[in-house]
Formats: sequence, structure tokens, C-alpha cells
Amino acid sequence: MTKYFKPTWMVESIYQLKPEQLQKRHIKGVITDLDNTLIAWNEPDASEEMADWLQMMAQAEIPVVIVSNNSKKRVERVAADYGIRYQAMAKKPLRHGMRQALKKLALPKEEVVVVGDQLLTDIFTANRLGLQSVLVKPIASSDGKVTQFNRRIEQAIFKRVLKGNPELKWGKMID
Ligand SMILES: [Mg+2]
Repeated sequence: MTKYFKPTWMVESIYQLKPEQLQKRHIKGVITDLDNTLIAWNEPDASEEMADWLQMMAQAEIPVVIVSNNSKKRVERVAADYGIRYQAMAKKPLRHGMRQALKKLALPKEEVVVVGDQLLTDIFTANRLGLQSVLVKPIASSDGKVTQFNRRIEQAIFKRVLKGNPELKWGKMID
């Protein structure tokens, strides 16, 4: 059962993912979570770091789509200035929202990676769809209410995932 919560890779921050690394793995598109993956959950606007990273991905022609359980208002505010596509109210771990993002990318599953800070939503949904995934450390040490509840369950699952997959370690790269 823990196999559904196992990320393909664990990288400390999404901002450590570089186009060359992704290309080496034949990854041509990224689906990413928003809260605590790209920016802190309680931060209303995009950060400079996020802007730089998106620009780097755009230059490398690697499209990025945000899939967030948060509201359209919240996600649009962050995404609109950068012209990146998004799926708000995605209801992860339900598959629909991430499926929509896959359609937007129009790439085969093997060429897409999902990035997120939560096993119960991001990684679980990626695994349900047969997508590769990167677990990142949450940007802020605090969380919204629903996430706080999820985190407790997540801690227990994460321990089991690590125990069952000793090769899985935090790294700076995906290979
Ligand atoms: Mg998140």
C-alpha cells in the first residue's frame, strides 16, 4: 500500500530542478503544486525565485502547469503574470484535475513529472495516474488547517515509505 505514496525522487526544493537534469531523464513537461512547493502557502504573490525558475524552464521550452487544490482566485493571482497554465480546485488526490493538466501539456505520461510537497495529495495522485514524481520539502514550516491534519497522517506514511525503500534519499538532483 505504501507504493502509492512513494515518490520517484526526493529533492529539497523545486528550484533545484534544472532543465538539463529533466532533459536527461526525457522529461519535457512539469506539473507542479503551488502551496509550499512554489511559494509559501500564506504568501499571496509569486517570489523572485519562482519567476527566475519559470523563466529558465520557459527558455528551455519545458512547459509548467500548476495543479492546486486552492481557489481559482489564489492560483490565478500567482500564475497570471507569468502566463502559466493552471488547474485550481483540483481536489487532489482525485485524478481529474491532474488529468486536465496532462491534457494541457499534451505529452505522453513518461515525459511528465509531478512536483509537490505532500504525499497524500501530490505524490498519491501522480502514482494513481502512473506519473513520475518529485517530493520536495515544504517551503514554510507552517500549513493551512486541512494540511495540518494531513501532515500527521503523512508523517506515519512517510516513515513506512522510507523504511520500505532505503534507496530513497533527499538529494539536490533527480538522478
Ligand atoms: Mg502543497
